[in-house]
Amino acid sequence: MDVLVTGGAGFIGSHFVKRLLPADDIGQVTVLDALTYAGHIQNLGEAFLSPKLTFVEGNILDRPLVDQLVQRHDAVVHFAAESHVDRSFYAAGAFLATNVIGTQTLLDAAQRHSVDRFVHVSTDEVYGPLLTGSATEDAPLRPSVPYAASKAASDLIALSYWQTSGVPVCVTRSSNNYGPHQHPEKIIPLFVTRLLKGEPVTLHGQGQHVRNWLHVADHCAGVELALRYGTPGEVYNLGGGTDLTSRELTSMLLEACGATWEAVTYIPDRPANDLRYSMDCSKAMQTLGYRPQHDLEEGLAQTVEWYRTNPDRWAPLLRKAATQLELAATAVL
Ligand code: NAD
Repeated sequence: MDVLVTGGAGFIGSHFVKRLLPADDIGQVTVLDALTYAGHIQNLGEAFLSPKLTFVEGNILDRPLVDQLVQRHDAVVHFAAESHVDRSFYAAGAFLATNVIGTQTLLDAAQRHSVDRFVHVSTDEVYGPLLTGSATEDAPLRPSVPYAASKAASDLIALSYWQTSGVPVCVTRSSNNYGPHQHPEKIIPLFVTRLLKGEPVTLHGQGQHVRNWLHVADHCAGVELALRYGTPGEVYNLGGGTDLTSRELTSMLLEACGATWEAVTYIPDRPANDLRYSMDCSKAMQTLGYRPQHDLEEGLAQTVEWYRTNPDRWAPLLRKAATQLELAATAVL
């Protein structure tokens, strides 16, 4: 199987490419990535040693390029997205362009060239906040922020191509990922990099927001299962990590970085900061054999170690992000 991976120079896409390349039944893997502020060729690292990998710098909105690339592959795994919630508050247009129209551009090409598989990677944020219980795949979509709304729109347009044109789409929805080389604008690396520098971190509200934390390797394993065994037209929730309030997460990060609560200040909550996300993942477990394996404490220790030993990778990104957008010393879960 030859696979086109969009967004493969980003955080999750690059982990996925490195996971996929060694498999004997995987032929050529092409990464299509625009290398926005969030994409970095170094994320692919040792993947370039594989003769099976081709990297193409380009935009999923570039229809001729997308058409040419999709034509040469059996499957598409679509990670490329504008992915940072905070940015979507003041740059929603970019989110709609990449996340919705970009997805549609890929689907049009997939339809024209009859790909065998199309995995659209999405998020638990499309379900919106849940005060109790857990969302199954057929729960209503109630996104609160432009990022989540653009992902919900892209999920629906992807599923509609299965209904109308038979494009064999599977949608995966994952909870919050963590792991090495995530962009330092996201909460875990933002807190870790600040704490490692001896700088303060800030918590929204009372630190009561609940998120499910999934190791990036577990997410990638789930996406690969959907690629290989997913049923077209189906959605698969990929969670099953550890539920933590942002206060509990902060406590673990302080310990992992050797810092204390003196480093933490509280600021007023931001608008539409959903109190709790929760997904029921029994469908992926029962039908795909999905089983998250990573222990949160060990995974966080490994993640902190990566940031401790690779300041040359993240420090320039923080500087760039800060100048671009005056990134506040806060993050949204
Ligand atoms: P990321 O921001 O680290 O990576 C996104 C990648 O897409 C970057 O390499 C960027 O250069 C590329 N890209 C952006 N716009 C593009 C365009 N127009 N054309 C081509 N490439 C473009 O994001 P991530 O955290 O790795 O997330 C990957 C996917 O997983 C996204 O679809 C996101 O919605 C989804 N997801 C992420 C999480 C999470 O916790 N990070 C959780 C659930 C779902």
